[in-house]
Amino acid sequence: MLTDVQRSNVEGEIRANNVGKIYDPEGVNLCALENCTLEIAPGEFVMMVGPSGCGKTTLLNAIAGFSNVTSGTIQLDGKIIASPDIQQSPNADRMVVFQNGALFPWKTVMQNLTYGPIVQKKMSKEQAVEEARRVMKTLGLSESTEDLYPNSLSSGMKRQVEIIRAVINNPKVLLLDEPFRALDNISKGRMHRYLLDVFTIARKTIFFITHDLEEAVFLSDRVLVMTTRPGTIKSEISIDIPRPRDFRIITSEHFVELKKKVADAVREEALKAFEAGERELA
Ligand code: ADP
Ligand code: MG
Repeated sequence: MLTDVQRSNVEGEIRANNVGKIYDPEGVNLCALENCTLEIAPGEFVMMVGPSGCGKTTLLNAIAGFSNVTSGTIQLDGKIIASPDIQQSPNADRMVVFQNGALFPWKTVMQNLTYGPIVQKKMSKEQAVEEARRVMKTLGLSESTEDLYPNSLSSGMKRQVEIIRAVINNPKVLLLDEPFRALDNISKGRMHRYLLDVFTIARKTIFFITHDLEEAVFLSDRVLVMTTRPGTIKSEISIDIPRPRDFRIITSEHFVELKKKVADAVREEALKAFEAGERELA
């Protein structure tokens, strides 16, 4: 576990200040985010939950640089990366792991892992392969997988490779949008332990969207609950469970209590969203 002193040396502070996002202002004019303000400390693991269609992916995409915001600002380590005038393109300092995965199917695991640093000319091919092997070893992915193609990997292993690929780029921030949604419970449990190891070893700020409340409480330092659309932060619940965390805590009274707090906040918003007939796109 990182001490507070160690964390203060880690980069990756995110500040969103009164962020608003209107899709298609001249046409449909859909307000996805309004006055959305949040802070994520360097090296903090923050989860976001909220009803479908409330604006979670919209916010993550704006942090990642995939889309712009129409009001407010987002800062990374004090520098504005998103505002109505600025949209800093996707960059290795903010790596995203998606729900449906994004490995190149025609490249082997090793080629997938080394692609980013080589293309960005951050490493030679030899250096990238060496670094990939080092990270695979540290994070416990067997070298025997390096010549396999993504199609021959289980869904859990694909996610593992994607997370390693993100870590190899040495980002300040890891952004995860429901990455384990399609996994069965056993694979999901494995990925949780894996991600907790990544968090401890790689010391990244993590912003993770999920609809799985147990996952939210088990992994994070803090859970943010988003309101129904237009999304803003409804409440936050600090998860004061010591690390390292073992899955057996999920039956403890304190865990159940925290999960109930999150569930109550989400349920209230989900009912509103349901009444408004919200649908999610992705
Ligand atoms: P969540 O991730 O919380 O389910 P999203 O951020 O994907 O929600 O979407 C928020 C709202 O914005 C939804 O009503 C969705 O339909 C709408 N939306 C998302 N992307 C677009 C887009 N490209 N154009 C228009 N509306 C969009
Ligand atoms: Mg989404």
